[in-house]
Amino acid sequence: MLRVIFITFVTTLVIIVTSNIGSSEPPADFPDPKSHPLPSALAVWEVKEEVGDYFSEVKESPLGYLVWSEFPITVFLDLSASKPREQEWVEAVETAIAEWNDYIPLKEVDDRATADIIIARSRPPVNIQRNPETGQREFGRARTARTRYEFDLEDSRLIHRMFIDITPNQPKQRTLATARHEIGHGLGIWGHSEDKNDALYYSHVRDSPKISPRDVNTLRKIYEQPTRLGWKIEQ
Ligand SMILES: [Zn+2]
Repeated sequence: MLRVIFITFVTTLVIIVTSNIGSSEPPADFPDPKSHPLPSALAVWEVKEEVGDYFSEVKESPLGYLVWSEFPITVFLDLSASKPREQEWVEAVETAIAEWNDYIPLKEVDDRATADIIIARSRPPVNIQRNPETGQREFGRARTARTRYEFDLEDSRLIHRMFIDITPNQPKQRTLATARHEIGHGLGIWGHSEDKNDALYYSHVRDSPKISPRDVNTLRKIYEQPTRLGWKIEQ
């Protein structure tokens, strides 16, 4: 019972605040943080030491780094709020998925219920003032996207799911840049770069950066970290 309460508690906090929740200690039967094997594309990635990374900006969740451990990571595109120009949006998001797939296996699926990452073509809610990931607003004044996570138990494994909202009302290239950035969060880059050449730069820039070597260096470092996610709780 304690376990269920903990998960509900964390989920609620994640949606509303997310900062300063690292102090909530998981129950004793939760697994100790351990690292998972690197997905193969990251394992063979030659870290570009000369460009560095922004790992220091990446935050842990209450259960550890937000790494996926079963591949491919499944992605469902939720078009239930669809309106005109839907195809442009879909193409842009699928392009972003394909770009990240060079570094970590992602696969689009038709089943929302089992998907790891759900990307909805919808405006982020306006009643939440701050982005749950950082406490900051993104892309200047207009809120165009949001990513949040929830925890769950599946076959006694601690798992997470990511929920991304991307507004329908942008030109295709902007949607692509937004999707590239938010999927980066969905893959576990829970923080921002201060370099405008990185996809995870905190603000929108005119020439939307591609996934940079610094983005990939950071992603790899995250996947080397210990986490409670993906491991079984004691029975
Ligand atoms: Zn962001």
